[in-house]
Amino acid sequence: MRYIEPHGHMVSRTTDDYQAMALAGCKAICEPAFWAGFDRKSADGFYDYFCQLTQHEPKRAAKYGMPHYAWLCINPKESEDMGLAKEVMAMIPEFLKAPTVLGIGEIGLNKNTRNELKIFEAHVDLAVQHNQMILVHTPHLEDKRKGTQLIMDALKANGKVQPGRVIIDHVEEHTMAAVLDQGYWAGITLYPESKASPQRAVDMIETISAQRVWLNSACDWGHSDPLSVPKAALEMRRRGHSGAAIDRLIYGNPAEFLAQCPKFILPEA
Ligand SMILES: [Zn+2]
Repeated sequence: MRYIEPHGHMVSRTTDDYQAMALAGCKAICEPAFWAGFDRKSADGFYDYFCQLTQHEPKRAAKYGMPHYAWLCINPKESEDMGLAKEVMAMIPEFLKAPTVLGIGEIGLNKNTRNELKIFEAHVDLAVQHNQMILVHTPHLEDKRKGTQLIMDALKANGKVQPGRVIIDHVEEHTMAAVLDQGYWAGITLYPESKASPQRAVDMIETISAQRVWLNSACDWGHSDPLSVPKAALEMRRRGHSGAAIDRLIYGNPAEFLAQCPKFILPEA
C-alpha cells in the first residue's frame, strides 16, 4: 500500500508516529498551519511556528524517508484578533518562497464570526496575489453547513479564484456534494471522536464521489490517529474495492491536486 497524508499536524506528533506512517506506506506529508491548542500571545509565536513548519519539520520527516510540505496562514480561531491576524499575514509572503510551501491554509471559519470572515477574505486575496493554492478548514458541528456556504460565497465573490486549485476540508455527508458541485476539491477528515470515521468516509466515497476527493487524518495535539488513512484503505479492501481504486483515492487523488503546485514532487512509487 502507498498513500499520501495530505493534512497532518506533525509538529504535535512523535517520532514513533513518523515511523508507523512510513511503515504503513506513507510517501509524503503535508502540514497546514493551524491552532496550537492555545492562543499565541504575539506574531513572534507565529514566526517561530512558520520556521518550524518550513525548516525544522521537513528535516524530521526526512529521517523517515518522507518529504514534508507546508501550508501557511493564521488559523480562523486566532484570526478573531484582527490586529494580530494582520501582523501575522504580513510575514507570510516571505515564507511563501520556501521550497516546501504549497499554498495558503488551513484558512476558513471557526464560529462564523464577522472578523473570521474578513480575515478569510484577506487570505484569499493574498493567495490570489501570489498565485497560491488554498486549503480550507470548515467549522464543525451544527455550523458546518452555514460556514461552508459562507466560505464558498466568499471564494466566488473574490472573482479570481480557480475552484480546482482549492480544497475544502472536513466535509461531511451534508456538505460534500455542494463543495464538489461548485468545482472545488473535497477533503474528508478521519478522526476518532468528531469528524468522520473510516467507515463513514468509505460510505461517502461510495454514495457521493471518489473523484476530486482526498482522505486525511489531520493528526494533531488532540486524540487523533495518524494511521487513519491506511485504516480507511483496509475498510475499502474489506468491502471489495479494487487495489487500483484504493491507490487512486489515497495516493493518486492527493498527488493530482498537490502537483498543481510545481514545488510538489510526486513521491516515487
Ligand atoms: Zn488541520
